[in-house]
Amino acid sequence: MGVLVAKFGGSSVADGIQIRKIRSIVESSADRRFVVVSAPGKRFDEDSKITDLLYLLYSHAEHKVPYEQLLQVIKERFLGMESDLGVDIGLVNEFSEIEEQIKTGTTADYLASRGEHLSAKLIAAFIGYDFIDTKGLVQFDKKGRLLYAETDEALGAELAKHKNAVLPGFYGTLPDGSVKTFTRGGSDITGALVARAAKASTYENWTDVSGFLMADPRIVKSPKAIKTISYKELRELSYMGASVLHENAIYPARLAGIPINIRNTNKPEDEGTIISGDDLNTSGDTITGIAGNKDYTVIGIYKNMMSSEVGFFKRLLAVLEEHNIPVEHLPSGIDTISLVISSKYLEDNLAEVIEDIERKVGSDDIEVSENISLIATVGAHMADRRGTAAELFTALYEAGVNVRMIDQGSSEMNIIVGVETKDFETAIRAIYDKFVGKV
Ligand code: ASP
Repeated sequence: MGVLVAKFGGSSVADGIQIRKIRSIVESSADRRFVVVSAPGKRFDEDSKITDLLYLLYSHAEHKVPYEQLLQVIKERFLGMESDLGVDIGLVNEFSEIEEQIKTGTTADYLASRGEHLSAKLIAAFIGYDFIDTKGLVQFDKKGRLLYAETDEALGAELAKHKNAVLPGFYGTLPDGSVKTFTRGGSDITGALVARAAKASTYENWTDVSGFLMADPRIVKSPKAIKTISYKELRELSYMGASVLHENAIYPARLAGIPINIRNTNKPEDEGTIISGDDLNTSGDTITGIAGNKDYTVIGIYKNMMSSEVGFFKRLLAVLEEHNIPVEHLPSGIDTISLVISSKYLEDNLAEVIEDIERKVGSDDIEVSENISLIATVGAHMADRRGTAAELFTALYEAGVNVRMIDQGSSEMNIIVGVETKDFETAIRAIYDKFVGKV
């Protein structure tokens, strides 16, 4: 079958009970040679994630607020796991080192990385695998950008020396040797990098859900699971808010053509979702999934003869660039264009932006609509099935939802509609019921 790289997320490494599940998953296939782990996450709803506590620890130290008690809480959680698992990884020394670093002025990244570091050491000792530190292997340039080729080479050379190993996710090093972390949830990226370096046949991402669902279960009751999805479709869905995997984890796996299998540590018998380059969707459903985001503002601009005015769009986008505002979508008509912008970028400067558009670009009318939500209906098969758009709009019409904006990418695997935020949930349910059927 080839090498399997298994990455376990925070809830899968939260305590001894979970780590025992990891051991039986790993032991069930000799191909699971490399394991990447997150820091311990929540054991129950009101619990804290170790990473959150470590960032808090850093803020205490930074602001010269007593931090000893907090450090003790973190230490005790690890000591509890160490004794529960019956291993000895020298935690007392590890924590003296952490305290020493705090006293001599450490960084937030270093402290945050200790969650993964200790988690990997504990799990390696418990399952009898080697521990490989990602320090020096996962490499960033001095601006903090990941160096793919260098990382691939260094990781590949190190992995070749081990039969089996556990590696900490989330961090690597800057050229000066100091620790640098990815953004939150970044252990997924480490997992993908290890999979690529190990030339794995599959990158397994073990979490607490059995893969992706076709819609948010808080909105649609018991949505169907997605068995297979292409990287491209997933990118569209994640962009619109469906999150299970860090979005930057897709790139390294895609580059190496390695399928990603999202699995559930608590239900290892479930097959989960397979994400791959091939369009393997054989479910018979026209759509693969629905996702959406709230809180957009649409600035609609009307200007006579806009379409024939040379440089109009360039000047318009330059205004937004000056205000450092990214534009998510730009649906346009003959003499109209709408700027769809996440409302967080317009919190205190909406009036100023509009004034600048009027002054630098000119318009006959500008209309602002706030509280707009976007809903993406994604599916590689939409393009070759007649009537998909008709069905979608019929569903919305029948549910009494007024469509405020429509955008369809040229890939034709995605139709995005803008609706008023009050209609968000109704619209998602209507689309799901139309394409997948009421449950
Ligand atoms: N522990 C880090 C976080 O909570 C990274 C990860 O779990 O992927 O964001």
